[in-house]
Amino acid sequence: MSRTQFAAAERALRSRLAKLIHEEPVLRGTLSVRHVTCGKTGCRCAQGEKHLALFLSSSRKGKTRQLFIPAELEAEIRQWVGNYHQVRDLLEAVSESALERLNVRKQESKRKAPQAGHRRRV
Ligand SMILES: [Zn+2]
Repeated sequence: MSRTQFAAAERALRSRLAKLIHEEPVLRGTLSVRHVTCGKTGCRCAQGEKHLALFLSSSRKGKTRQLFIPAELEAEIRQWVGNYHQVRDLLEAVSESALERLNVRKQESKRKAPQAGHRRRV
């Protein structure tokens, strides 16, 4: 990849990341479907035919919390959690390109200053 292509790719990553963070809710957690009983007497779940319910597990400061997600919010919350994964992946890609940039910078400074073994004071 040429330097300009590389810069364009990095800009595209950054703008996708910025757009997500500016415009979308981003939620860290794991969604899982569980079988639950509702507690109503005479409900089929009391006979073992349990309801399916969606929960968000998320750990904060070492404690895992379980949050029930009502069916009407499922699609939206799945989107929020998906946004978190996208943000994480994009951030990782931005970091990778910074690493490549670091390698380029090192090569450049080696060419400019062959005595690079002595660190300049900044
Ligand atoms: Zn029930």
